[in-house]
Amino acid sequence: MLKLRASEPESVLLAGEEVPVRIRRSATAKRMILRICDATGDVKLTLPKRASLRAAHRFLAENTGWLAKTRAAMPQPEAVADGQNLMYRGRLFRLAFSGMPPRKITVDEMIITVGGPRDLAATRLLGWLKKEARHHLTASADRHAQTLGVSYSRIGIGDMKSRWGSCSSARTLKFNWRLIMAPEDVLDYVAAHEVAHLLEMNHSPRFWAHVLTCCPEFDRQRKWLKSASGQSLMKVRFG
Ligand SMILES: [Zn+2]
Repeated sequence: MLKLRASEPESVLLAGEEVPVRIRRSATAKRMILRICDATGDVKLTLPKRASLRAAHRFLAENTGWLAKTRAAMPQPEAVADGQNLMYRGRLFRLAFSGMPPRKITVDEMIITVGGPRDLAATRLLGWLKKEARHHLTASADRHAQTLGVSYSRIGIGDMKSRWGSCSSARTLKFNWRLIMAPEDVLDYVAAHEVAHLLEMNHSPRFWAHVLTCCPEFDRQRKWLKSASGQSLMKVRFG
């Protein structure tokens, strides 16, 4: 149920979904505390200073039923639709599903227009965003791979609910399509982060030194992802 991952510390399987567990120690906590982050749905586990990791794992395992139930009961964000706002490359756009030909997606100053049948517009918009994400993430990953002198086998674009990216031992980089909504430098940092994992499958000082080589200001981008702005992107859903 609880397993060690290569690039992230812990996760737990809840209703078929792999959910990250952020474990943190607190000097003041008297007991173990579990909560669910309402922005990301991630599990946060606070441990008293002296609690063992084994006890923490047991506590987590005992509470998976409660976690799954609580998580399922959390309010679901509204799905992307005509007339709503959508972030794209760090800027806010209004969505217009025209319902008319041509079947094209155009981006102008403030509006993203999706042409063609309205009932298919959201699906086509998602397909387009994923394609854009792949294009820009590939460009960034290629550049960082060259900088660090490494190579990856392929790039996958996924719909992860709580992670921005991952790097497997098979050298596959996987990225969340939602990164296309983030500012360009943030997308670029996540690409650098996963490329750096090709060299170091951990978050050691050596790993962060590789990230720094690719993105001198990565701390700012990292903070942005953790901010309310970054976390709100994680909540964007289609359908
Ligand atoms: Zn990582």
